[in-house]
Amino acid sequence: MATVNVPEIFGSLVFNDDVMKERLPKQTYKELKACINEGRTMPVEVAQQVASAMKTWAVQHGATHFTHWFQPMTGFTAEKHDSFISPVGDGKVIMDFSGKELIRSEPDASSFPNGGIRSTFEARGYTAWDPTSYAFIKENTLCIPSVFYSYTGQVLDKKTPLLRSIQAMDKEAMRIINLFGNPTGAKHVSSSVGGEQEYFLIDRDLYNTREDLKLTGRTLFGAKPPKGQEKEDHYFGVIKPTVKEFMEDLDEELWKLGVYSKTEHNEVAPSQHELAPIYCDTNLGTDQNQLIMETMKTVAQRHNLACLLHEKPFAGVNGSGKHNNWSVTTDTGVNLFSPGKDPADNPQFLVFLAAVVKGVDEYQDLLRVSAASPGNDHRLGGSEAPPAIVSMYLGDELGAMEEALAKHETVEKTKSQIADTGVEVIPNFKKDTTDRNRTSPFAFTGNKFEFRMLGSAMSLADPNTVLNTILAEELGEFADKLEGASDVDKAAKELAADVFAKHSRIIFNGDGYTDEWVVEAEKRGLSNLRTCADAYPAYIADKNVKLFEKHNIFSKEELTSRYEIGLENYCKTLHIEALTMTEMVKKDIYPAVLEYMGTIAENITKKKAISDTLPCESETTLLTSLSTLADSLMKKCEALETALVSAEDIADIQEQANFYRDTVFVAMQEMRAVADELETLTAKDYWPFPTYSDLLYSVV
Ligand code: ADP
Ligand code: MG
Repeated sequence: MATVNVPEIFGSLVFNDDVMKERLPKQTYKELKACINEGRTMPVEVAQQVASAMKTWAVQHGATHFTHWFQPMTGFTAEKHDSFISPVGDGKVIMDFSGKELIRSEPDASSFPNGGIRSTFEARGYTAWDPTSYAFIKENTLCIPSVFYSYTGQVLDKKTPLLRSIQAMDKEAMRIINLFGNPTGAKHVSSSVGGEQEYFLIDRDLYNTREDLKLTGRTLFGAKPPKGQEKEDHYFGVIKPTVKEFMEDLDEELWKLGVYSKTEHNEVAPSQHELAPIYCDTNLGTDQNQLIMETMKTVAQRHNLACLLHEKPFAGVNGSGKHNNWSVTTDTGVNLFSPGKDPADNPQFLVFLAAVVKGVDEYQDLLRVSAASPGNDHRLGGSEAPPAIVSMYLGDELGAMEEALAKHETVEKTKSQIADTGVEVIPNFKKDTTDRNRTSPFAFTGNKFEFRMLGSAMSLADPNTVLNTILAEELGEFADKLEGASDVDKAAKELAADVFAKHSRIIFNGDGYTDEWVVEAEKRGLSNLRTCADAYPAYIADKNVKLFEKHNIFSKEELTSRYEIGLENYCKTLHIEALTMTEMVKKDIYPAVLEYMGTIAENITKKKAISDTLPCESETTLLTSLSTLADSLMKKCEALETALVSAEDIADIQEQANFYRDTVFVAMQEMRAVADELETLTAKDYWPFPTYSDLLYSVV
């Protein structure tokens, strides 16, 4: 591979701050920045000049089209390309782009999931430019990050609530900062995210032979391979040449798009990998995570690979998650989750920590629903992923401090420990004050919280919207209490101690993967929402509606629409998976087994023709097992089809979702178990699909 000049290519396809500074008239640039920083509406003249500069820049970089790039409730991005061309008579065109086109566009709102907010006869919806995230060029198209809302002003996307939550958190966090004297003169607080992205890479030719992977993103059949991840030899293992080439190519594409792709390594399962970018503000980070996922898929294709972003592509093998590393920082660069040298004597930090502890405890259900997807249902509660129970891990030092404060005891100071490797040439380094607890769904990791429930295919927007909102709520409540206090430091410490005492049930430092924890969590009264059908009602729970309405994030109607969209998507996903399964059984698996049974039967007949006394015991036993299983398979298939018909007759969406969870899904699992057993008994040449071993060890 030719060497790349990283600083030169980095951000070369992004209309970022440097480009704007260089290309916009000074006054326009100043006004644009003021609008962004102060959240003001942009004057038309400014938009016009930005549009003009953006177009010139984009055309110089090979763009012929533009699109408002937005994030409807599908969880993916959407784009509708328009070309820059504008006729000027004589059959000639010029490249044109107006301020109006930059600011607003009008896609058909009813064609995106909207939970009954928009029906087809009142389809009007708008996308509007989000100037706080940079425009970029992707495949000759200028992409303008945008929000998406209906004619009547209802939110139809994932970005708008995120932006609103950032504003709400800023407002309440500033009240707390000001209470403590605001020594750095901060004007704003914003949140940051670093999203670690897990994915699988498999051979594209094999991928193309499997209907289940192509239609649903996961294998719906497949017997356990003889070698899975038991030997723990893949994590951080040597990266294979094909994968290395893919990663290099991916990094280069992402760098051009201004994504700080930093770390790439092998993950636990065979064929599983991870990419971590350097963190940035949550709005940009969320947009960039979408770009990362899109780019992974297209780059994989170029290398004849398929990138699987599904949370559980292979049963019995580790699934993929997305770790949401989250912190809040002032515009003067102070990380408000940074404990400092002596956290127990850092009242401002204690207030922020207490706000997170209280918020996570009171809104466990919202955090859970922010990580709910049909794919992630297979992961949460599995033996490798955080369970569906939300709990917090603070680490040894903060954990001990929290416990002591909760009991109003004095806090023992822990000296930072030096890790001594025992090898002289290796310099000793300061140990992290927090140990790692990989099983915790919400872990404090030094100066940030890592929310680990999110699934690999999901948008970062939802969890960050929830995190920012609950932080706003708790900080606001604390500010109300503290603003009248004569000794703010003392009052803050007391408040934190009270919160720790009241909400200690949410803190759990043990192994979250054990059955004992499930029992213990129930005793503590923590919620355990196992599936989408159980999690989505959180959106319409009274306390949550109140929370979101108070901070102007969502109206009740918007929340109801999100609840319905979530459940609808759950039902549709299971429906498609079930149909794919019955088709694969009837068209591929059953015929293959029939053929194999025919061969065995023929073999027995031929032997018998030679001599009645030739032993045929093994063939007969195998044929009997196959026949019994084949009959059972077809019965289970029929049962699944009957369940699907019944499901469609249920009018109430919650009841329908419950039916998919309790009946359809169970029927799918039962049919799969029989098919997987058949796979282990059928000769390889007859089996219609590549096996788990073929898929998981396909890339060299
Ligand atoms: P690990 O999870 O393996 O310990 P790191 O702690 O280095 O790895 O970082 C994981 C992710 O967290 C990276 O994407 C990193 O940029 C991000 N991150 C680090 N610090 C912060 C922070 N203050 N706020 C948000 N994300 C952060
Ligand atoms: Mg991590």
